[in-house]
Amino acid sequence: MMEMHAGALHISLYPFLAAASNYVKESGVTLDDLITAAAFERARLRGKERVHEALKEGTVRKPVIMSDAQAEIELLSYPFARILVSCVGDERLVRRYALSEAKSAYEKLKEDSSTGSSADTDIINELSREFGIRVDFVRLPHEQERERVQLPFVDYLRFTSTLRDKRWKLVNRRLEKGWVKLRTGEFLRIIQEAIYERIKRDLPLDVPKALCESLSSYTEDIRQELEVLRKKYDDGSFEPSSGFRVRDPRCFPPCITAILSNLRDGVNVPHSARFAVTAFLLNIGLTGDEIIEIYKNAPDFDEERTRYQVEHIAGDKGSVRYTAPSCDTMRTYGNCVKPLLSLSGSRERGQSPRLRGRGAEPHSDDVCEKITHPLSYYKLKLKMKRKEGQEGKSTKRETATTKG
Ligand code: SF4
Repeated sequence: MMEMHAGALHISLYPFLAAASNYVKESGVTLDDLITAAAFERARLRGKERVHEALKEGTVRKPVIMSDAQAEIELLSYPFARILVSCVGDERLVRRYALSEAKSAYEKLKEDSSTGSSADTDIINELSREFGIRVDFVRLPHEQERERVQLPFVDYLRFTSTLRDKRWKLVNRRLEKGWVKLRTGEFLRIIQEAIYERIKRDLPLDVPKALCESLSSYTEDIRQELEVLRKKYDDGSFEPSSGFRVRDPRCFPPCITAILSNLRDGVNVPHSARFAVTAFLLNIGLTGDEIIEIYKNAPDFDEERTRYQVEHIAGDKGSVRYTAPSCDTMRTYGNCVKPLLSLSGSRERGQSPRLRGRGAEPHSDDVCEKITHPLSYYKLKLKMKRKEGQEGKSTKRETATTKG
């Protein structure tokens, strides 16, 4: 067994830190040991569990570490989970796993940094160093004491470029002499983004095929679960954490399917796309709570803010109830997936530049040619489906009569 100490207990909860990886290296545990030795079976099982939790819950549980042995399992389970994710080799799984690890680290950091002790600043300093962020603690007048951290605006921009919420825009921040002021919680949110990027950047690892094959007893379940979830989602009956059901997502326009798919996969989605999907789902009768569930996978999910925004779009805050944007507006904001007409008049395959590269690969169909609004697409598609159903029934009846 590896020799553990207090520092190791700490890094076992933040296994993506360089210190954790060095710790494992120095412990003398080899890759071969981790993959084959009976002594590490619990670490392997916990590694598999990490991936399952990411798939099912969208987060990775942080256990209470009571012993060195437990810390060792937790620490070693992380590299093993990364090997499993790499062997499965699914891009969506990579994003989901990275996001789940990052989210769970964020929750743990919030918990660890809420004590107000010097350990509070220690954790922030440690993570800042890890990700190369210059950070400074500020003592502000009483009324502003919640803004406790400041960082150079260059670093701020580097880590917030993927955060879509308006509050992260530099114009909405307090900026003094090149330093951006933040609350501790906001800084931790930036750290979550940095963790996510780091985990995602390194995956999938280049794991030899033969090694992956030898781990098929671990990866088979993951593949199956991934497939079940994918089918359920495509079927419309799946939304990771809630069992959310929508009326008939098979009739959703491709633009809305693309945005939902990105949200499900933890991809950062622009504000205009969030507005479009929220308004669309409200218009077809989903409740605010059901829509909030969908956003739970988003990297910058904040329940309070999301609720406020959904209620605002729904008109619950005394504002007007918004209608989903038209196809023209969707196109203007780069949220339509209909191929563009090239100069020669032929259709260019591919998605809108804003949706391209986010993992979703939807494309418009003939129905898109007949409508000017995503809601009209949905209604027309429902009608077509009902008609197909009725025709199917009468064909069956006719066949039965002929046979009779
Ligand atoms: S044409 Fe309209 S319905 Fe079709 S993908 Fe574009 S915005 Fe959506």
